[in-house]
Amino acid sequence: MGKNIIFILIFIIAISLFIRNCGKLIRYMLVGKKQEHRLDGISERLFKVITVAFGQTKLFRDLPAGILHFLIFWGFVLFLFAVLESIVQGFYNPFNFSFTGPFYSVLTWIQDIFAVLVILACLYAMHRRFVMHVPRLEVDKSGKIDAAVILLLIILVCVTMLGMNTFLIVKNNFSLLTNEVRPLSLLLAKSFPSGLSSAQFYYEFFWWAHILTVLGFLNYLPYSKHLHVLTSIPNTFLADLEIRRNTIKPLDLDREDIQFFGASDIEHLSWKQILDGYSCTECGRCTAACPAANVGKSLSPRKIIVDIRKRTLEKAPHMISGDTEGETFQKQLVHDYITDLELWECTTCNACVQECPVMIEHLDSIIDMRRNLVLSETRFPANLNNVFRSIENNYTPWAFNQSDRAQWAEGMGIKTMAEDPDCDILFWVGCAGSFDNRYKKVTKTFASIMQKANINFRILGIEEKCNGDTARRLGNEYLAQVMIKDNVETLNKYKVKKIVTACPHCFHSLGREYKQFGGNYDVIHHSQFINRLLDEKKIELSSDAYNKKVTYHDSCYLGRYNNVYNSPRNVLENIPGLELREMKRNRSKGFCCGAGGGRMFLEDEEGGRINLERTREALDTNPDAIASACPFCMTMITDGVKHFEKSEEIQVKDISEFVFENINN
Ligand code: SF4
Ligand code: SF4
Repeated sequence: MGKNIIFILIFIIAISLFIRNCGKLIRYMLVGKKQEHRLDGISERLFKVITVAFGQTKLFRDLPAGILHFLIFWGFVLFLFAVLESIVQGFYNPFNFSFTGPFYSVLTWIQDIFAVLVILACLYAMHRRFVMHVPRLEVDKSGKIDAAVILLLIILVCVTMLGMNTFLIVKNNFSLLTNEVRPLSLLLAKSFPSGLSSAQFYYEFFWWAHILTVLGFLNYLPYSKHLHVLTSIPNTFLADLEIRRNTIKPLDLDREDIQFFGASDIEHLSWKQILDGYSCTECGRCTAACPAANVGKSLSPRKIIVDIRKRTLEKAPHMISGDTEGETFQKQLVHDYITDLELWECTTCNACVQECPVMIEHLDSIIDMRRNLVLSETRFPANLNNVFRSIENNYTPWAFNQSDRAQWAEGMGIKTMAEDPDCDILFWVGCAGSFDNRYKKVTKTFASIMQKANINFRILGIEEKCNGDTARRLGNEYLAQVMIKDNVETLNKYKVKKIVTACPHCFHSLGREYKQFGGNYDVIHHSQFINRLLDEKKIELSSDAYNKKVTYHDSCYLGRYNNVYNSPRNVLENIPGLELREMKRNRSKGFCCGAGGGRMFLEDEEGGRINLERTREALDTNPDAIASACPFCMTMITDGVKHFEKSEEIQVKDISEFVFENINN
């Protein structure tokens, strides 16, 4: 009875503290005032929880760590039953789950086996972190202590559970309960003599140690990076639905009461962005995949998310208590925690979002902070002035004249929509395709392929404007929306339904983001279009062997953003004799060229150059040519090839050029 009273008191105190801490964390989360609605599409959300959280699918992208985490996660889920059993025993000693019949047999058997596997997994996790020093797991001193404490607590939970079960078996003269199957505990128990007088004492000792470890663990969580144990499943449930995933959320610029754009501190973020901070496991997968971090720049997506958490825990308590004086309020998330340079180094390649096992959306926060720099603080790298001015005046990021936009088409007999809107598809050329000398050749090539296939297409000519992607990713939402709204008006005026484009940035913006502004189009990338023309035999390739080794570079906006991995490869593999060689990092693990997110127009202020890193990897495949399907990638890789003085031997070409070179006349 005395034991029960002591247990009940400890239990009530521990649970009350836990609820109090959780309540605090929820209140801190709600200081984020940006609106966010995440309760639509419940079935898709539940499916994500089943696959990503319970199936741990993202973790298996790194197989050893994936297996490790899978064991720890499922071990924990199963241990919950054991914990529950022990807790109920604190209230009513004879309780157990044996009434569940065969389920209890399975449960107890798995608990016994998993206890050892989880202990081994934790020891291996410690070895990776403290002995092997796996780079992505490197954190500061407090992070290391935190990781060690958590891993030791998990080991303690398992050891005390095994001890408790072992001495229960010894106490009961080696007999198990009905339906109970504990092979390991039984084996351990048999190493003790029958009728051991101290068995009851040791059973009680391990029972208390188990209960106190569990309750201590529960109360340590809210202060630890392992807060993710509580928040990662909700965060996965609340992640963006597929339809919105990887798109930038619009700012409502028409609202007259808006005085601040983007985010300079936690109160400008949404509750979801703060929950992202709580959910970070500091596993470092995002930073390991980040092209900027890979070449030695300051940007680390993990740091961005951890900084959001640190700043929340520092500032939110003061905001809630109304104590708004003092040092905390002289600092800001942007500048004091996250530097401007870090924010400008992001290529928006989406690798961090792709890799994060708990569905954190780093880019939403990075873009919000860029919006603050551009729209609220007017503080951005000087050469962006020219870019923004050009987009505003010339409708393209470069200083070209809009009246020259369709010059590439001269003599090709291509009509504009204004001349004759009766067509099957609109060819959206894009700024690079219209003005960049190298990419104009790609534009002409692709248009020639369409002509050979008798496609009834039109262009907009001088009615086409920059799609707004560059301005939007650079944080200039105002300018981006001006471009987008003008384009939507033009496209809707001609009742455009289908669009083909050779630019992945146009493809993504027009297809996925123009919907936010009333532009609903069926947009296809030229790699998909050519693939279809080949499948439908609307174009035929020569049977002469091409006999060239080609490596294909995945564009982030085509691949990671829109899952277009196969079409460009199929196109190349259709060419007889062409040998396609994959780079080390390919498809969803592909490495950015360094141009996205407006980086094309920014200088490298520190670290190495991303395009050189990628070109080196392409050259490692010993190719005769490098294929791309994006104007920005083509420019960056061409520069890389020049840097390595390989331009004479290795060509960088668009996939359409490989096709055109081998087409049957
Ligand atoms: S989007 Fe790419 S460049 Fe930007 S932080 Fe994420 S991984 Fe790094
Ligand atoms: S943001 Fe995601 S991938 Fe990056 S460290 Fe945190 S949990 Fe890991």
